[in-house]
Amino acid sequence: MNFQWYPGHMTKAKRMMQEDIKLIDVVIELVDARIPYSSKNPDIDELAKNKSRIILLNKYDLANEEETKKWRSWYEEKGFFVAMVNSKTGKGVKEVHAVIQAACKEKIERDRRKGILNRPVRAMIVGIPNVGKSTFINSFAGKACAKTGNRPGVTKGKQWIRLNKNVELLDTPGILWPKFEDQAVGQRLAYIGSIKDEILNVTELALGLISFLKKNYSKLLMERFSLEEEMEEVKILEKIAEIRGCRLKGNELDYEKAANLLMDEFRNGRIGRITLEFPES
Ligand code: GDP
Repeated sequence: MNFQWYPGHMTKAKRMMQEDIKLIDVVIELVDARIPYSSKNPDIDELAKNKSRIILLNKYDLANEEETKKWRSWYEEKGFFVAMVNSKTGKGVKEVHAVIQAACKEKIERDRRKGILNRPVRAMIVGIPNVGKSTFINSFAGKACAKTGNRPGVTKGKQWIRLNKNVELLDTPGILWPKFEDQAVGQRLAYIGSIKDEILNVTELALGLISFLKKNYSKLLMERFSLEEEMEEVKILEKIAEIRGCRLKGNELDYEKAANLLMDEFRNGRIGRITLEFPES
């Protein structure tokens, strides 16, 4: 999915979120581990205030492990409960149960003092498009889980997935928008493929990525494309076109094709595990 947000969308999404959030105890926000800042919604802190908060650094298989751990600490220092997950393979997904219990500890104790026993914690998943919400829900809930809304006698409306005796999950995730205003954020969202490439200049995008990689992951870049020495960005793209046989009719090098190829390889993790932003900055 690619971003196509308009003010109307945002107002509607926000209104729905406000309604849903009233029903839940804990908000589980998925962010992309390659851009844990840029893939985070700017308004959710306000929308979810007074709720327990969990951040899942999803797709951490594609991000640099050390950097992902730094981000985990960074968000933990800000008061979030945090876990690193790969929703696609399920790695780290089971551990989220313990994180939910930890995040809701106070609430569970408050219930107990009031004599309310065994009321499940209610959770919802939120995040920007393409961050992996559906994949996570499928992995976390599995197939065995009954939708509680399907029980006879339960009125239609919100569908809850009963995960176990302790947790119920709202079955539809909340879709959030990213921080559009910020240019650098837009660029990083484009790098990971969350903004339609058709509306971008892919060659420019690729040159930007090369510049970033040169500075931060030069070893991976050089290895992937058998570069023997430091070169300018354009030269690197030219080299990629050469070694990958990207040519136009008449045998001229096809920079655009090379750019698309580079972006694909990056997005699929074939250049290596790469984080695009760092907590220090
Ligand atoms: P949603 O729009 O937030 O519901 O995102 P989806 O669940 O549809 O996932 C978007 C894409 O990301 C799909 O191609 C998924 O296979 C992929 N994906 C989701 N989670 C992971 C992950 O942890 N690692 C990797 N490598 N890919 C993932």
